[in-house]
Amino acid sequence: MTDAAEMAKEAAPIGHGKLQMRILFGFLLGLGAGLLVHSFAADAGWVDTVVTYVTTPIGQIFLRLLFMLVIPLLFSALVVGISEMGEIRSLRAIGVRTLVYTVIVSGIAVALSLALVNILRPGQGVDPAAAQDLLAQGRDNAAGIVAASAQSEMGVSQIVAIVPNNIVGAMSNNDILAVMFFALFFGIGLLLVSTPRTAVLKDAIEGVFEVAMRLIGIVIQLAPLAIFCFMFNLSAQFGWDLLVKLAAYVGVVLLALGLQMFGVFPALLKFVGGKSPVAFFRETREASVMAFSTASSNATLPTSLRVAEGGLKLPPRIARFVLTIGATANQNGTAMFEGVTVLFLAQFFGVDLSLSDQLFVMLVCILAGIGTAGVPGGSLPVIALILGGVGVPPEGIGLILGVDRFLDMCRTTLNVVGDLVCAQVISSLSREPSELPEPSA
Ligand code: ASP
Repeated sequence: MTDAAEMAKEAAPIGHGKLQMRILFGFLLGLGAGLLVHSFAADAGWVDTVVTYVTTPIGQIFLRLLFMLVIPLLFSALVVGISEMGEIRSLRAIGVRTLVYTVIVSGIAVALSLALVNILRPGQGVDPAAAQDLLAQGRDNAAGIVAASAQSEMGVSQIVAIVPNNIVGAMSNNDILAVMFFALFFGIGLLLVSTPRTAVLKDAIEGVFEVAMRLIGIVIQLAPLAIFCFMFNLSAQFGWDLLVKLAAYVGVVLLALGLQMFGVFPALLKFVGGKSPVAFFRETREASVMAFSTASSNATLPTSLRVAEGGLKLPPRIARFVLTIGATANQNGTAMFEGVTVLFLAQFFGVDLSLSDQLFVMLVCILAGIGTAGVPGGSLPVIALILGGVGVPPEGIGLILGVDRFLDMCRTTLNVVGDLVCAQVISSLSREPSELPEPSA
């Protein structure tokens, strides 16, 4: 297992069962209290006081703590993820193929999910006045991030701006794409130079990742209280509408994941991987069950390795390499989930995302699929950051946290199955004659 995978496994942000229960409790309590207020005391003066002086500040502090950590986390995860692709010199060609595969298949996944949200529009139709109120509050909370996105340029210059001319400036403006571009470039640099000193540097960057993950783990302890506050604010304003929208959102996430799992993956297996999809799903069942129950790609890695070598009979050197990296870097489910969530919340809050905004979301989600740690709840800090970047109130995240565990189980299953599909495809493209497996059913 790679160092990053080992580290991330220990530092799961939302892995703890009891914390999960507390989060769910906070979600339900906040929702219930907010609905009561919405139904019986919508105009009472004390509600405003509570929202202004108690629930909103608590939620803001929680979000700011997350924002504070997300740049070091993304940067270190992306650098380590990319540089590991060339860890073993003899596997460099496979590393490059894996990287190209990851970018293309994640691109398909994100495009599919964005198309679905645009067609089905699960977040549309909430009370526009209430949404505008919240939007204004959200803009204050993520002022720095939102200011950067408001100033962001359009069209060709937007593409040019992905390449930062000053990395410190890009970080201080929370210019996520530019920071990710730098991290990607830096990771490739680390992949190309292997001296004792770059090994130390890589270790140090892994150290940054480790610390950021640990701190996010601590911040997440505040989640139950923060979620209570978010849900209270949202449901006091939006009432029952909220529940209907939430159900539609869950439906769209599941539909998107299902299409990738049972449409795109079988096509890849059949036409590129040379494998019967039915046999593939049967032989990888154990890894799917494990991923579903742990909601962590990293925790599932040992099972995936066993399944790839024992069940799929893939060449061990390829399977080990692709799966180890894939557990952190190839996360189709996560990329799709992030895309659907950001667009859903934009619809919910009435933020009109132009084509170039959506392209921005798509690019960030593809990169975020590579940069998100394979641990339970790994996507959440990344989503908070993307929301700020497109001018959607980051509080919106409170809306989805209550249903996140279930969606996490589903997207992690797609992540893990996606890694196995990747291993199967790369094996079939890179296989030497001596590595041909026994024919499978
Ligand atoms: N739980 C996911 C995984 O481990 C990451 C995430 O999307 O939160 O693959």
